[in-house]
Amino acid sequence: MRTFVYTSHPARVVFGAGTVGRLGEEVERLGCSRVLLLSSGPLAAASARVRQALGGLLVAEFGGAAMHTPVEVTQRALDVLKEAAADCIVAVGGGSTTGLSKALALRTGLPQVILPTTYAGSEVTPVLGETRDGRKVTRSSPDILPETVVYDIDFTLTLPLPLTVTSGVNALAHAVEALYSADANPITDGQALDAISRIARALPRLAADPADQEARADLLHAAWLAGTCLATVGMGLHHKLCHTLGGSFGLPHAETHTVVLPHAMAYNAPAVPGVMRRIADALGVPDAPSGVYDLVASLGGPTSLRDLGMPESALPRAAELAASTPYPNPRELTREGIAELLAGAWHGRRPEGPPSTQARLARLTERVVASFEQASDPRVRTLLSDLVRHLHTFVAANDVTEDEWQYAIDFLTRTGQMCSPTRQEFVLLSDTLGVSSAVDLLTNSRTPDTTPSAVLGPFYVEGPPETAHGGDISAGLPGVPLWVDARVTDTAGEPVKDAVVDVWQSNADGFYDVQLPELDGPVLRGRLRTDAEGRIAFWSILPSEYPIPGDGPVGQMLDAIGRHPYRAPHLHFMFDAPGHRRLITQLFVSGGAYMDSDTVFGVKDELIVDFAPQAGPTPDGRQVDGEWRRLEYTFRLAPLAG
Ligand code: NAD
Repeated sequence: MRTFVYTSHPARVVFGAGTVGRLGEEVERLGCSRVLLLSSGPLAAASARVRQALGGLLVAEFGGAAMHTPVEVTQRALDVLKEAAADCIVAVGGGSTTGLSKALALRTGLPQVILPTTYAGSEVTPVLGETRDGRKVTRSSPDILPETVVYDIDFTLTLPLPLTVTSGVNALAHAVEALYSADANPITDGQALDAISRIARALPRLAADPADQEARADLLHAAWLAGTCLATVGMGLHHKLCHTLGGSFGLPHAETHTVVLPHAMAYNAPAVPGVMRRIADALGVPDAPSGVYDLVASLGGPTSLRDLGMPESALPRAAELAASTPYPNPRELTREGIAELLAGAWHGRRPEGPPSTQARLARLTERVVASFEQASDPRVRTLLSDLVRHLHTFVAANDVTEDEWQYAIDFLTRTGQMCSPTRQEFVLLSDTLGVSSAVDLLTNSRTPDTTPSAVLGPFYVEGPPETAHGGDISAGLPGVPLWVDARVTDTAGEPVKDAVVDVWQSNADGFYDVQLPELDGPVLRGRLRTDAEGRIAFWSILPSEYPIPGDGPVGQMLDAIGRHPYRAPHLHFMFDAPGHRRLITQLFVSGGAYMDSDTVFGVKDELIVDFAPQAGPTPDGRQVDGEWRRLEYTFRLAPLAG
């Protein structure tokens, strides 16, 4: 049986996505109505959302929080607080903003609501570190503990990857030191191990996709657990060293934690082998200290104090300061031992331990990336390097098996084998994965004054038949007759003449000519030229929705995920005009099927247009029985750059 003491530090926690919406309610729950908002510059968007959530409860703002809570800054914020007669403090930001909030609460006794945007964990501790005359002094008091924490993962999505890594390792450090703390108990042990495995799981996923919501939620949850450990049990050598390096040498908080942690763990490891085993298991590595080092290195995090700007000459003084006052630590602290530890951290040496899979993978990735260094085209080098990094991270983060990779290769092989001059399975794959639309989105976002572009799709065929003004591209196929009357202008609205316009579409059953071998094509394709007024006009038939071909690997993929294969009905256009950028786009039939779930993600609101139902005489006197449709549209082309 284990005898232990556990002190809980009660705070109300609201956790989720979009929880900022509950902020007003939480302030009122504390019986408050006059809020001072603390924020910081890089968080303008988050602050705006907090302002909106607070509405009339907000009476004043202060935006100047600084790292390590200098007392001069606190005094300025205190003046603002008093002037506004605030009765509650709301802080949105990282540990620095939380620190300022705590310093104000300590001086005024006011309640605090914190919205953390990093993983520092300060929001759940009753501890405050303040800097006065360059010296950092830490104190603990129930008045310092925030009353309410609103964790909103939306606020962490903007945290850049390097800060995500260092802040995540800051949380990892709280959890690691809690496990070998003199005050360790089964409650914090559970929280710490849960935090460690969440961090180990989340960070590689965020390196691959910083907007991964589940990984963000895991990491924020871990930060809360780790902060709770920090609040409850005493920390050891690692926190002492970081405190010294931050306070006396001005090193940045989270980065310093990131560099020092593996070395502090390696120092303590011989004294607590059982704890290190549990940490290694939670991390999923054979050895805890080198595992943490490898994790940081694989994420591109800092690994040496030298890179953080610490002069080598400062190391003896740092060792002396860190060893000067005794404090609980599992292994005895000696000046020489700490000096050696700091030297390792300064040089960025990997702590001893078998090379982990992660380390070997990181080295492999770097070797492949280095092999591109000779590429004469820098863009080729960048694209290939980034592709390889993402692919390797993808393989590692998902623990891809040999069978899965073989399947992927087979899938791509079959995709290639399916391609022919009239069937483009790779375009289909790119389209259904949304990559074509992503590339299109980037291209189009650079020309906001012009007609939006849309994906080319797999059915374009070079060299369509020349079509005269007013001609018919349907070759008498059945369908609702469609009269297209389009103008082509530049961005100033001036007509663009002699533009070559290719059009192509499906028939009334949703097939393109190239899918119908019995059809004597090309049909439902044409090449027109704009006249002096920039106009083209032609007859066709109303396009209908259609499934993309389902007899290849892409169809198989859609089946596997239970997604329908339909495209919303549309007409394709491609414009080539001297002095203008090529425009490839599509017009979608307003009211048509699948507008909200087009299987290639190609529909843009601006491209949904009326194919207006008509009856009676046609523009060119053509005899039509029953309904026909009219499409009128003006396309605006972008000038060639330069
Ligand atoms: P920080 O609060 O200084 O933030 C670092 C930078 O990131 C700042 O420029 C900030 O504006 C920016 N930032 C924060 N969130 C962002 C987001 N979501 N998107 C974009 N930018 C964002 O750094 P930190 O590591 O969170 O906190 C460090 C401070 O907290 C130190 O002073 C440390 O001593 C203190 N701390 C105290 C405790 C405690 O229990 N008392 C615990 C941990 C840390």
